[in-house]
Amino acid sequence: MKNNRICELFKIEKPIIQAGMIWCSGWELASAVSNAGGLGLIGSGSMYPDILRDQIQKCKKATSKPFGVNVPLLYPNIDDHIKIIIEEGVKIVFTSAGNPKTWTNHLKQHGITVVHVVSAVKFALKCQEAGVDAIVAEGFEAGGHNGREETTTLVLIPQIRKAVTLPLIAAGGIGLGSQMAAAFALGAEAVQVGSRFVATPESSAHQNFKDAVINTKEGDTVLTLKQLTPVRLIKNKFFNEVEKAEKEGASAEELEKLLGRGRAKKGMFEGDMNEGELEIGQVSATIDTIIPAAQIVDEIMNDFNTTIEKLKSLAF
Ligand code: NDP
Repeated sequence: MKNNRICELFKIEKPIIQAGMIWCSGWELASAVSNAGGLGLIGSGSMYPDILRDQIQKCKKATSKPFGVNVPLLYPNIDDHIKIIIEEGVKIVFTSAGNPKTWTNHLKQHGITVVHVVSAVKFALKCQEAGVDAIVAEGFEAGGHNGREETTTLVLIPQIRKAVTLPLIAAGGIGLGSQMAAAFALGAEAVQVGSRFVATPESSAHQNFKDAVINTKEGDTVLTLKQLTPVRLIKNKFFNEVEKAEKEGASAEELEKLLGRGRAKKGMFEGDMNEGELEIGQVSATIDTIIPAAQIVDEIMNDFNTTIEKLKSLAF
């Protein structure tokens, strides 16, 4: 692809980034997406430091193409993760859920390309000040942690495009090439795709969770736990308990207690569909097959190109 700043920045062929999702994005998924010409990301937020090192080493063996690591800045042992990333020679880091000023300089001093994930214009401006190389703008439709403002991708991308000159990756509600084309129309230069890549043989998610994703219908996900860190998940028994507690006026501390520890692992990795936290985006309503990651990359690119061609005939 000619003149695409994201492809040039990461030295990749196709402007599709696979989101570094907790419990789902290990080396098998990341290397499969990178080998298919996109950019694969290891999701380090659910990995103890020694596991992250092992995952990076396996990814290096599985692909000679560029890949990166996603680091949620809320992670408790973040210093260890950053040290391992540098020691293992990882060249691309996506940071999320925190202030981009904290780690950008340090990572860039070690020759690492830094991208930060934002959900609002004010955070995109902070990214520009922090000196990141590119931004992921993630809308309300996205799974997992999300912004409080509930700005949809359709509204968020043009505003961020106008506010900053940095290369821009759109996320949230993107799993099809037609959705990718819509994001490009709004000013994005690449897309980050999460949910679609959960339903792959290469994803490390539990089979029960993959099956739940392909069975999810319109309206089955919701953005909840806004008093803590807002998160989009599938409505299940655990969510019903959260909803009931909120209706009864539960405080943040009470919700924290109800959430407990390791809910996401229980749901997405151990396959407990009742008690676990099942983080996925709205786009799961359009996903009904478990297919290899490389096939997804090809299908999205073909659908993208067909959509662009079709749109040309619609111009007045
Ligand atoms: P919890 O506090 O509920 O549980 C921590 C989980 O992370 C446990 O399952 C634990 O595994 C695992 N873990 C891995 N490394 C460590 C470590 N160094 N210290 C403690 N636990 C560790 O957190 P969540 O599961 O809700 O979230 C985990 C991380 O993922 C957080 O950093 C969070 O910010 C991030 N996250 C990011 C999202 C996003 O959209 N970017 C979405 C949701 C979470 P074990 O049970 O084996 O001990």
